[in-house]
Amino acid sequence: MSRAPLPLWLSGAVVAATFGVLLWLEQRRPLRAPVEPKARRVARNLAVLALGTAALALTERPVIGALSARVAARRWGLLHQAALPGWLELPLAVVLLDYTLYVWHVLVHRVSWLWRFHLVHHVDRDLDASTALRFHAAELVISITWRAAQVLVIGVSPLAFSVWQTALQVSTLFHHSNVRLPLALERGLVRVLVTPRMHGIHHSTLRGETDANWSSGLTLWDRLHGTLCLDVPQAEITIGVPAHRAPEDATLPSILLLPFVSQPPSWPTTDAATRRCGARPDELLP
Ligand SMILES: [Zn+2]
Repeated sequence: MSRAPLPLWLSGAVVAATFGVLLWLEQRRPLRAPVEPKARRVARNLAVLALGTAALALTERPVIGALSARVAARRWGLLHQAALPGWLELPLAVVLLDYTLYVWHVLVHRVSWLWRFHLVHHVDRDLDASTALRFHAAELVISITWRAAQVLVIGVSPLAFSVWQTALQVSTLFHHSNVRLPLALERGLVRVLVTPRMHGIHHSTLRGETDANWSSGLTLWDRLHGTLCLDVPQAEITIGVPAHRAPEDATLPSILLLPFVSQPPSWPTTDAATRRCGARPDELLP
């Protein structure tokens, strides 16, 4: 089996088409009422995306490209050592990358200097597909160290890495989107995949809700770790981070500088860090 990565044009076309369809659905069936004008936010988030994409083109692509090619050629990593049937390597690599991204997501929330950067993603006061594109370039560059460890330890080929990245981008666009899916459909999907209502809870201004729903693809990881939280009425969710709700915190210069300036505590100290959550799919609320 060829281990060459998916062509960039193919991944790009799949991701761009997903974004286009979600933007259209967001107009037709919005899940949450907007706080800011949509066009201004989308333009801002696309500017953050442009910086992040440029940073990754200069760093992640050469580093991870070379590393994954070497991993495949020398058969390094757990999957190669396990001597599995060839057809199983790619799906297992994708699943293990998804799990280790769950761990990374917990770390960027729990480790205070990492949170300084991930905060840029969370201070968006609305949540839609464009929020999925809004990660500070510095967070993306820092995450390359984790990405390299994932590739090396798991034993990820260039093909498996590119399949995972494309699937992750599609999944991330989908679960950030502001699309009101039929509740029965979403309760079915959330058994397996992260959905818009589920991920909206992670973007809540309440600490106990943000510290839940860390999965990016399969909901299995939140289920295994007891961090799944579904029983929050969507109308009660305020999106954002309490210390950064002012309109001037949302401008492009503010969010680009945010990791490098002094930050107030993100949550009031009285906010409960955890709460007991309903995690059964039928507890997902409208
Ligand atoms: Zn997060």
